[in-house]
Amino acid sequence: MSKRDYYEILGVSKDASKDEIKKAYRKLARKYHPDVNKEADAADKFKEAKEAYEVLGDEQKRTQYDQFGHAGPQSQGFGGGFGGAEDFGGFGDIFDMFFGGGGRRRDPNAPRQGADLQYTMTLDFEEAIFGKETDIQIPREETCDTCHGSGAKPGTEPKTCSHCNGSGQLNMEQNTPFGRVVNKRVCHYCQGTGKIIPDKCNTCGGTGKVKKRKKIHINIPAGIDEGQQIRVSGQGEAGVNGGPPGDLYVVVQIKPHEFYQREGDHVFCEMPITFAQAALGDEIEVPTVHGKVKLKIPAGTQTGKTFRLKGKGAPNVRGYGHGDQHVNIRVVTPTNLTERQEEILREFNDISGNQPTEEQHGTFFQRVKRAFKGE
Ligand SMILES: [Zn+2]
Ligand SMILES: [Zn+2]
Repeated sequence: MSKRDYYEILGVSKDASKDEIKKAYRKLARKYHPDVNKEADAADKFKEAKEAYEVLGDEQKRTQYDQFGHAGPQSQGFGGGFGGAEDFGGFGDIFDMFFGGGGRRRDPNAPRQGADLQYTMTLDFEEAIFGKETDIQIPREETCDTCHGSGAKPGTEPKTCSHCNGSGQLNMEQNTPFGRVVNKRVCHYCQGTGKIIPDKCNTCGGTGKVKKRKKIHINIPAGIDEGQQIRVSGQGEAGVNGGPPGDLYVVVQIKPHEFYQREGDHVFCEMPITFAQAALGDEIEVPTVHGKVKLKIPAGTQTGKTFRLKGKGAPNVRGYGHGDQHVNIRVVTPTNLTERQEEILREFNDISGNQPTEEQHGTFFQRVKRAFKGE
């Protein structure tokens, strides 16, 4: 389901030159070309190398891949957060810059970008790791179909406000001891829109917009993490006066799992073993999100010891391989012993002495001894 890192496929480093990439690809292509190599997986390996070279061999695609990984070449941008370079005000501000002058006068008829929308999506632990394609329903404002956004009943038209002549502002003249002062105020006849609608559209009540639930297809990339967001451009609210729509941001929340925890690409879990397994060693089965994995517990394993299952974590959302699963061992003290078990343990205790030996526990035991002496 997840893809291997392209650099890994070609066996080159992330800062490899164009030439090195080309050479690495040629070598693999010669080795795995289906005409030459008759091994079962040769054709797949050839295809994989070809795909990697098509991206890394092209400067633009490579830059995109470095930034966004396998999620890069899709139409959905992988958002880095609000307030980034994308987050400028849209058309409205640009028009302000040209026509606004010093007075912050906003042309009420200028096209303005629609508002951005935010949608929080809750995913199961595994869904975040393996990715998901899904449809979401979002309520948003869209241009009214009946009046096509004008707010006027079909067959009628909005009129230019006669009080402000369509500017949306009124000049208020005041006589002061220093002379006549002219103040600009928002026109209260048209609420600053510059337009009066004598016959309002019945569907939208004259606003030109209606609330609708819109179905949007979302592709969640594998390895997405808590709090990360996906930007779906142009799926925010409708623009004003013919301006572009805003963007939709899908923010990801991940439900906690009863067994696994996640930190970045790594998955952590705690695995209980019996004290006999810990002392004698054993081979146990550990669940991972990729299926069960056998783990060898060496004799003399202490509680708190961590084992690493390489590549059994979450895939990197930018396509850089997989994280690991870290298995934290917890040795469980047996309870509700049978008579026979008790008997054996007493015997074990008698021949071991009732303290762990210094040889086995080294500095840890020395620290305990010092604590008893009050050192
Ligand atoms: Zn007006
Ligand atoms: Zn309408």
